[in-house]
Amino acid sequence: MEIISIGGYDQVGKNMTAVRIGEDVFLFDMGLYIPAVIELQEEKIKDYGERHLRNKSALPDDLILDKMGLRNKVRAIFLSHGHLDHIGAVPFIAYRYNAPVLGSPFTISVLKRTMEDEKKTIPNKIITVPQDGSYKIKGKNSEYLVEFIHMTHSIPHTTMVALHTPEGIVIYGNDFKIDNTPVLGSPPNFSALKRISKQGVKVLIIDSLYCGSETKTPSEDVAREMVKDVFSGMHGNRNAIFVSTFSSHIARLKSIIEFGKKLDREIVFVGRSLKRYVQSSEDIGVANFKNDVKMITYKNQVASTFRKISENRDKYLVICTGHQGEPGSILDRLSRKRLPFEFQRGDNLIFSSKTIPVPINIKNKGDMDNRFKKYGVRIFDQIHVSGHGGREDLREIISLISPEHVIPSHGSYQQLLPMKELAIGMGYKPEKDFHMLRNGGKVIL
Ligand SMILES: [Zn+2]
Repeated sequence: MEIISIGGYDQVGKNMTAVRIGEDVFLFDMGLYIPAVIELQEEKIKDYGERHLRNKSALPDDLILDKMGLRNKVRAIFLSHGHLDHIGAVPFIAYRYNAPVLGSPFTISVLKRTMEDEKKTIPNKIITVPQDGSYKIKGKNSEYLVEFIHMTHSIPHTTMVALHTPEGIVIYGNDFKIDNTPVLGSPPNFSALKRISKQGVKVLIIDSLYCGSETKTPSEDVAREMVKDVFSGMHGNRNAIFVSTFSSHIARLKSIIEFGKKLDREIVFVGRSLKRYVQSSEDIGVANFKNDVKMITYKNQVASTFRKISENRDKYLVICTGHQGEPGSILDRLSRKRLPFEFQRGDNLIFSSKTIPVPINIKNKGDMDNRFKKYGVRIFDQIHVSGHGGREDLREIISLISPEHVIPSHGSYQQLLPMKELAIGMGYKPEKDFHMLRNGGKVIL
């Protein structure tokens, strides 16, 4: 068995891993490097395609599969969950493979809606596998069973992908945290992981982004309490209240609506990406916000809504895009007075998010915050808990699965290094059964 680390081993983003078993190759995730995409947008390159993205290193460098003579041996593309750093490259490079794309219902719905929005199509067959369901893939000489096991993260229908091969089981665990009290959906499917661990797992590829954080990541239930706490201080407030969060974070949106409703304001969602994820969750029955929320997306609708809000600022609760200060997002435009609403002293802006620690985001968010502060806006930052497990989540998953080999992923070399310490502490030996890979690397197991 050969594991080829294509992307996501030198940065947070463009996740992609290949596993080769003889004449058969399987791909896990096909993500974008989002900061590079933001750079393209700042250069006003709107209609970007594969060439632009490759030039910016926004795509995983899957051309190495051509060099290795493996491109035509790819039998399937598995998607772990619906975040763009895991599925965002599918519309641009999946066509290179004569293989189906498989994922959970929410993941596939997001993929399809993203392609629809951006007017992209791919020739690949797209297969939805139910959460905790399985599927059989035909290889050259054998048949492979793949399971999509339910995990908790920060987007619905996250999965650990378990591929059963004649050479042992591969588990791809990008991304997750252990949440025993999720706000939406159920806790991780521990029994499936236990069952598989008894069969013997050959290798675990594991999201190790926050292994340096010596704790367990709090449950989403804690973020729900943080939202509740901030809103509880706003009863009777006569100023504007704006909230921004990750559009794909349906559980967080649910908490914001739950406590937002108690403020007796009309709740409006503004921004295209919010619509995309909310519709996906409605498509498959994960959540339904229709009765509680007014969705605003069209250009003239956005302008007229902000005019109305401007006249009755204590009657609305606005949920909008732009928590990273992304150029062109609703918050970015509001901060530059490019929409018909002006912030005033005492207005409230809640970030139910954390700034992604890459230079472009830190700069964009910092500059935007400064513009808001000039207007006298009260900023409530980091009303948030992460979706990535800390060291104790990782320890728990490794002991539960007890794989023969461990491969950390989802970060730079420095970010992944703490996993080495954890693995050694758990009895693994570097180079023997613990493997630090870089982009474009490989290991034979
Ligand atoms: Zn993710």
